[in-house]
Amino acid sequence: MNVNQSAPPVPPFGQPQPVYQGYHQSSYGGQPGSTAPTTSYGAYNGPVPGYQQTSPPGVSRAPPSSEAPPASTAQAPCGQAAYGQFGQGDVQNGPSSTVQMQRFPGSQPFGSVPLTPVVSQPTVLQPYGPPPTSAQVTAQLAGMQISGAVAPALPPVGLGYGSPASLASASGSFPNPGLYGSYPQGQAPPLSQAQGHLGAQPPQRSAPPQASTFTSPASGGPRMPSMTGPFLPGQGFGGPSLSQPNHVSSPPPQALPPGTQMTGPPGPPPPMHSSQQPGYQLQQNGSFGPARGPQPNYGSPYPGAPTFGSQPGPPQPLPPKRLDPDAIPSPQLNELPPQQKTRHRIDPDAIPSPIQVIEDDRNNRGSEPFVTGVRGQVPPLVTTNFLVKDQGNASPRYIRCTSYNIPCTSDMAKQAQVPLAAVIKPLARLPPEEVSPYVVDHGESGPLRCNRCKAYMCPFMQFIEGGRRFQCCFCSCINDVPPQYFQHLDHTGKRVDAYDRPELSLGSYEFLATVDYCKNNKFPSPPAFIFMIDVSYNAIRSGLVRLLCEELKSLLDFLPREGGTEESAIRVGFVTYNKVLHFYNVKSSLAQPQMMVVSDVADMFVPLLDGFLVNVSESRAVITSLLDQIPEMFADTRETETVFAPVIQAGMEALKAAECAGKLFLFHTSLPIAEAPGKLKNRDDRKLINTDKEKTLFQPQTGAYQTLAKECVAQGCCVDLFLFPNQYVDVATLSVVPQLTGGSVYKYACFQVENDQERFLSDLRRDVQKVVGFDAVMRVRTSTGIRAVDFFGAFYMSNTTDVELAGLDGDKTVTVEFKHDDRLNEESGALLQCALLYTSCAGQRRLRIHNLALNCCTQLADLYRNCETDTLINYMAKFAYRGVLNSPVKTVRDTLITQCAQILACYRKNCASPSSAGQLILPECMKLLPVYLNCVLKSDVLQPGAEVTTDDRAYVRQLVTSMDVAETNVFFYPRLLPLTKSPIESATEPPAVRASEERLSNGDIYLLENGLNLFLWVGASVQQGVVQSLFNVSSFSQITSGLSILPVLDNPLSKKVRGLIDSLRAQRSRYMKLIVVKQEDKLEMLFKHFLVEDKSLSGGASYVDFLCHMHKEIRQLLS
Ligand SMILES: [Zn+2]
Repeated sequence: MNVNQSAPPVPPFGQPQPVYQGYHQSSYGGQPGSTAPTTSYGAYNGPVPGYQQTSPPGVSRAPPSSEAPPASTAQAPCGQAAYGQFGQGDVQNGPSSTVQMQRFPGSQPFGSVPLTPVVSQPTVLQPYGPPPTSAQVTAQLAGMQISGAVAPALPPVGLGYGSPASLASASGSFPNPGLYGSYPQGQAPPLSQAQGHLGAQPPQRSAPPQASTFTSPASGGPRMPSMTGPFLPGQGFGGPSLSQPNHVSSPPPQALPPGTQMTGPPGPPPPMHSSQQPGYQLQQNGSFGPARGPQPNYGSPYPGAPTFGSQPGPPQPLPPKRLDPDAIPSPQLNELPPQQKTRHRIDPDAIPSPIQVIEDDRNNRGSEPFVTGVRGQVPPLVTTNFLVKDQGNASPRYIRCTSYNIPCTSDMAKQAQVPLAAVIKPLARLPPEEVSPYVVDHGESGPLRCNRCKAYMCPFMQFIEGGRRFQCCFCSCINDVPPQYFQHLDHTGKRVDAYDRPELSLGSYEFLATVDYCKNNKFPSPPAFIFMIDVSYNAIRSGLVRLLCEELKSLLDFLPREGGTEESAIRVGFVTYNKVLHFYNVKSSLAQPQMMVVSDVADMFVPLLDGFLVNVSESRAVITSLLDQIPEMFADTRETETVFAPVIQAGMEALKAAECAGKLFLFHTSLPIAEAPGKLKNRDDRKLINTDKEKTLFQPQTGAYQTLAKECVAQGCCVDLFLFPNQYVDVATLSVVPQLTGGSVYKYACFQVENDQERFLSDLRRDVQKVVGFDAVMRVRTSTGIRAVDFFGAFYMSNTTDVELAGLDGDKTVTVEFKHDDRLNEESGALLQCALLYTSCAGQRRLRIHNLALNCCTQLADLYRNCETDTLINYMAKFAYRGVLNSPVKTVRDTLITQCAQILACYRKNCASPSSAGQLILPECMKLLPVYLNCVLKSDVLQPGAEVTTDDRAYVRQLVTSMDVAETNVFFYPRLLPLTKSPIESATEPPAVRASEERLSNGDIYLLENGLNLFLWVGASVQQGVVQSLFNVSSFSQITSGLSILPVLDNPLSKKVRGLIDSLRAQRSRYMKLIVVKQEDKLEMLFKHFLVEDKSLSGGASYVDFLCHMHKEIRQLLS
């Protein structure tokens, strides 16, 4: 499996435990577990108003109740799947060009700069008669990315990325024409989405005046060999049109006479076709690899070695592509307004394929370890399974960047608009083959740091004066080397002990922190876990409370621990609640647990200290007794109201009283409407969607939770929230505290034990067992010239530099954006150092340091050659998802589109050959940017379907905020795996296919996953034997739609499919519940929502449409 994917379920660090998926035993450097003293609690002193001590739970069976059982007021039907997608929505995909990028003002040189090369030789560019516009666009599109694919960013050999040595000179956009014969052509690009520029709508076929959109002089360029023919009026091939804005209704550009010779790259003679002639010939460009079968069922997914641009090769003229009926121009269509011609399609095989890029990277980079010794190396993709050898820079598992080559000046950066950001996962888990960071102990003096900027000792510090001093690589300050750290230098100026010291030779390592790094100058106590269980009517009725209590009895044996210790240092406590809170004394000396009720929720306090937080093994009998009794105690409850903020307050106060950090596990079912601080009202209002007030749906309805979160962070109290709602619970508000404390939110709508227990228990086990750093502060230092300016993730910041995390686990990332504050130097490059100060599960205070050196460039081409699109998308999604808190969703979408267009236009203008202005040329590293960005744009947060609830959107919004690059990659572009195409015996995962309905064959079965959802789609014509083998029924019609568990059958196919499902789940940080979907069944609508290359019911553009739209945007910028 892909170790590079998100968290493997198998413990990377330690021994797998039976029963549980894995106990993530930390083995940081093999340090013995800390034996930090356990704090003994002072006896609870003083009278406490408002609590009554009750007899053991068994006696008091009836908790306060105030109401009759809930009238089911469900307003959001259950049953609906997490992300519905029916319905329409905003059909607007388009950008209004009027929306400007907000974050990078002042950038835009395009537009105003004449494209002189093109102008100077306009006729050269018109090789053939202008094809009908639409067809031309098709051709252009095809041509473009091809050029991008091969020419500019072309790596020297086979690799997906150019080496630093490969230069911009390679990036002509007109690669050897021999490489690019002609391209497959589909049909008129559907530009229907481009509302907002009606006047500027590209004419699809004739429509003279509008034809300029896709027919700038350059557009007839050499890359569009496939059609010639009579000129249609209005197609702008002449140089003059260049000066005209493409979109504004400009005077009809001049057309060149047919037959204009092109001096571009020679190539196979283009077929000549009349634009009126149906079925003009299509040709496949060699660089796209072998032509795939025209049929959607992708007969052979990867015939031959795909060479989608990643490997230069000889031209391979290929047989004509299929003729899509829709691609045949008809005169009638010419009469139609552009909006009605959207059925015309570009051949999907001719546009950059995520599957191909992923496969190529796997093939090219999966076999060799990624060695981090070289500055500015672009790592393999997150979808590639590779090992990392730390030789001085942090592993890409810890840090991934949008670009590994940073522009030297802010002007360049503004011009390119490529966000400079790093996605940092400081506590990322590693595969077993890789070594966890070593722990360095510098004794009482603590870690060695620069006196001025406080950066930590790292491999880039320069020792001078025979080793007596060192110059800081971040701020250039000269520091004395303390005597105890002195070491001689070798003839190269390197310390002779460099390879014996992790901090001098590795990208990642840890320091033991001294007491100076501890709160109140006191070493921390081990953390505590407090389980806080909603016992209101809904929680009891659904079976949740009984299930949870039963599970906790065994799960408590698997609390995180460190370095070979037998027992976890973490103490536990228990609270149940509805409108009031029940604390439990589970002190080991008690025969039975004792319950204390606090009904004064307005002024929360903790009624007991001694006996509340206990060691599991010492108090096992009492805890077990308590967990047995809780479901019984509340079995007859009629209480439906709950409180929420007081529960968190109570947990935080308990940690404060115990003087430790810790985590609260809240299991909560309903909107907290009981009278108490943090009381909420139902303010869900779908009518706000697509209005300026839509943002309020994402904002918390009260500021009380931010205030509470701030207190939690100060105490190192992290909150994990498990939600079991039957209706709207206001996730946007309830998730504020988890979000700001570095916690997680899980949501199980309409929870029923029989259907959802596996998913819930799996998530719970993983969540409880995972290693967490508590009471953490993260600081990112940079070398002179750039600095961290913005942060995205689940944390709190009280100043502009310190990221405060009450808790941080191995799944969470912090995305950091950088800006220039000075000029960078190509020679010295740029350095990042991420320092995370945290308390380990055993209560040890540590610093984890990650260092990364990046290249700097004075040529934009170097920037574009060293970008990582997956990381860009991670950043852009987080940027957009934060943006919806403050701006209308449409504005956020437009901003993304504009930024993407600017990035690509800058490349086109500065890095690609100037003679091909009409073509869409994508940098090799960014050729998937449009398809992935489109997935972000049409995601539920930015463009919800009718069935997506407000809570779903808020939930996804906060989830994405902490996702790593692998998670955002699969979340936005789901993986679709055909199950019966490859031999059953094949042990490897079947190659994925593109997420489009066209790729589904009704005779096959597919798995689709996106990290949260998992579908098994069954085609209607699947062989009976297959149906029997998998479902144990005799025909397709007998398969139960919506089935979530496959029968365990003893045959190879069943074993293989179930094994594959297990392995997919193992790769993800959350359990994916299976849903079986039959072709043509109503559930299929849900499934189709995830076929992200297709047009979505909520109005999201298809990939092809979006690419056309993006092309238009770029051309507008370039004109
Ligand atoms: Zn310094």
